Amino acid sequence: MNKRDFIAIGVVVLLSVLGFVFFALKGSGGQTVKISVGARVYGTYPLSENRELKIKTDAGYNLVEIKNGRVFVKDADCKDKSCVKQGEISGGSIVCLPHKLVVEVTGEGDFDAVAR
Ligand SMILES: [Zn+2]
Repeated sequence: MNKRDFIAIGVVVLLSVLGFVFFALKGSGGQTVKISVGARVYGTYPLSENRELKIKTDAGYNLVEIKNGRVFVKDADCKDKSCVKQGEISGGSIVCLPHKLVVEVTGEGDFDAVAR
């Protein structure tokens, strides 16, 4: 086996690894985080992308973090902080009653909810 063969095999291996990573990320990217305040949808975000969202309402603020396929309320200035205590979720919802904030993880193929 000469050097050129070795490089060719290396490229094939690299491409298949990248392909695997791509599909693995895509596969877990079907879930969506929907954040709503009262009756208003604040926004929808893919669960697969890490981000931090500071949501300000008339009642106060919530710091929502999406990290590694999970979502949680990192900080809030509500009185009971029950939304913070609800911890990380990868399904279901977190509710902050004083701020009328709902963080909801919707499953794959639930695109109607996003379009509405
Ligand atoms: Zn709260």
